[in-house]
Amino acid sequence: MSALEKKNRTPHHWIDLHTHTSGSDGTLSPLELVRHAVAQNVSIMAITDHDTVSGIKEVLPLLSDNEFKKIKLISGIEISAKYSGGTLHILGYGIDFDHQQLLQKLKAFQKIRRNRSIKIIEKLNQLGIAITSDQLAGQSSANESQGRPHIAQLLVKMGVVRDIEEAFNTYLARGKKAFVCKEVFSADEAIAMIHEASGIAVLAHPCTLNIQGEQFEEYLDSLIEFGLDGIEVYSPIHNEKQTQTYLTLANSKKLLISGGSDFHGNVKPDIQIGVCSLGKRIDSQLISAEIIERTL
Ligand code: AMP
Ligand code: FE
Ligand code: FE
Ligand code: ZN
Repeated sequence: MSALEKKNRTPHHWIDLHTHTSGSDGTLSPLELVRHAVAQNVSIMAITDHDTVSGIKEVLPLLSDNEFKKIKLISGIEISAKYSGGTLHILGYGIDFDHQQLLQKLKAFQKIRRNRSIKIIEKLNQLGIAITSDQLAGQSSANESQGRPHIAQLLVKMGVVRDIEEAFNTYLARGKKAFVCKEVFSADEAIAMIHEASGIAVLAHPCTLNIQGEQFEEYLDSLIEFGLDGIEVYSPIHNEKQTQTYLTLANSKKLLISGGSDFHGNVKPDIQIGVCSLGKRIDSQLISAEIIERTL
């Protein structure tokens, strides 16, 4: 058998290292998410909720059950960080989710998120939309990290907009009528928080920084100086050219390579679990071993 034939016969280990649960703005509970991943033949998955580790903690005691034998989990987080021209999210893999300093900082962040929701609601009220904090509390009662998708879901339920996309495009996205910036950690703080909790820091969906070429490379270098370990090369929001660019940069700058779907359930209906790059699944062989080794 040739090496290629042998490789083709090796069973695939489909991987998804970027997923959200109801710990943040995903619509599936941690248990439902892991069940869904198993049903879709994902064999290695990271739960990477925005600014919380509550989802991992919830599902961890269940992993010894027979039904979860086929899947391995990596503890993760996605930390929002300061960046003016777009969105900067830093993924943390293999973090110690009992790390007290991390938990304290995240708790403070939950408060910042809730205060920001109140400001968004005030803006919506000024626009004549009768949405209340109590309604939002009901909508997001199961979510440790409150965010704009919860407000978007409410606006859909109230019939103010047709869908989540319209809620963002009309009211909630940057520059729209009810947008409120959230105070977040600086990039170096976010990376340091992940490292202090023994995690690997990876730049999530780099295209959302909205910079290309030399400008992107310079910014990436500044993150590397802060200690960035890797880059999410494979993401459904990257086109072929972007994927190739990020892969080349990862190799030349000796960054770890990661990939994930950014699955959120119903709030992002176009994204399917395990479908991480150009409409396809990705095999664990494409991902750096240092990340895969962090399975629980
Ligand atoms: P927040 O963390 O409150 O700033 O909200 C950011 C989250 O909103 C992202 O993680 C996405 O899940 C979601 N989001 C942002 N833009 C859109 C959009 N245009 N359509 C749907 N969801 C979005
Ligand atoms: Fe999200
Ligand atoms: Fe993100
Ligand atoms: Zn995400």
